[in-house]
Amino acid sequence: MVDFVDVSNMAAWIADRGLDRVLAGVTAYIEEDFRNWPAFDKTPRVASHSTHGVIELMPTANDEMYGFKYVNGHPINTKRGLQTVTAFGLLADVDSGYPTFLAEMTLLTAVRTAATSAMAAKQLAPAGASVMAMIGTGAQSEFQAIAMREALGVNRLRLWDTDPEAVTKLINNLSPLGFDIVAAANTIDALRGAQIITTCTADKTNATILSDDMVPTGVHINAIGGDCPGKTELDSTLLRRSTIFVEYPEQTRIEGEIQRLEPDYPVVELWQVLTGQREGRTSTEQITIFDSVGFAIEDFSALRFVRDSVTGTDFCEKLDMIAEPADPKNLFSLLPSKMSMLVTQ
Ligand code: NAD
Repeated sequence: MVDFVDVSNMAAWIADRGLDRVLAGVTAYIEEDFRNWPAFDKTPRVASHSTHGVIELMPTANDEMYGFKYVNGHPINTKRGLQTVTAFGLLADVDSGYPTFLAEMTLLTAVRTAATSAMAAKQLAPAGASVMAMIGTGAQSEFQAIAMREALGVNRLRLWDTDPEAVTKLINNLSPLGFDIVAAANTIDALRGAQIITTCTADKTNATILSDDMVPTGVHINAIGGDCPGKTELDSTLLRRSTIFVEYPEQTRIEGEIQRLEPDYPVVELWQVLTGQREGRTSTEQITIFDSVGFAIEDFSALRFVRDSVTGTDFCEKLDMIAEPADPKNLFSLLPSKMSMLVTQ
């Protein structure tokens, strides 16, 4: 039997525990796994590109556990009444190879992406940051805002999205939670007074959401939406003016903002900042960019946190997903006994 968390149980568990506490917990698990970075098998995710999007498998493992996530990215989907990103993921026992835990990961991807942003911002955002500009207010955005408030106390949001309904949706969702929110007139207006800038747009193109002239010194840019070949958000002059922090360079050079720079352009690996091997922010004038693409270890950590939290509770069901005959060599015994039902002439 495999422990299983479906969408309604994931939503109920998050509500029961509190999204802010779930985000803090997932952030702590990601930090723990990033500090153990050398212990993991790592590979860029396996991507299958098509006209409108991408389907990806994201595997990783340590000595004890293997994990993977299935995830899509289809910016066109919201026009079809579908989501841009959906996902599910699995943990398995390395020793036996048996799957142990299966979960929906559409909600959990939004949680882990926001938790990873919070982890990076804790290292990189300027001291005393209180205002975040958010460019793109779609499915990920509320999670990003709550994670930044949980991690850094950022309570003031300045929003811009080309879809005014997406802005209204965020205001309706987050105003009751005590956020101080301004709907901006455009991107430049949104950036006024912001110390953190989150770009979280979806467009299958090399977009220029932020150009160099728009961005003042000293800010932290949390660049979420550029995560595929040919799908970026920042102009290359801005990239060169900044210090760029990444998850796994081998993957980010294919998928992240830095795909627009030379293949050996210097970047800082976030795990090394967490272990103290590299510095995070070094001056008040520095622009820091977290070139987020989403890496398998973050999903592994998020699955681990959910599993540790829900196992043995009503939020977790048993799923009969692995055939387990009493005699492991007699798989045939699981079939109905009447041969006449099994073999057709
Ligand atoms: P979504 O489609 O729900 O929201 C995207 C929003 O961006 C929409 O509201 C759209 O109107 C807006 N937008 C598009 N172009 C814009 C522009 N030029 N200026 C302002 N707003 C614009 O998508 P989502 O699920 O919120 O995901 C957002 C992006 O983040 C996607 O590109 C997705 O692939 C990416 N993503 C990255 C990670 C990661 O780990 N880095 C994880 C999940 C999603």
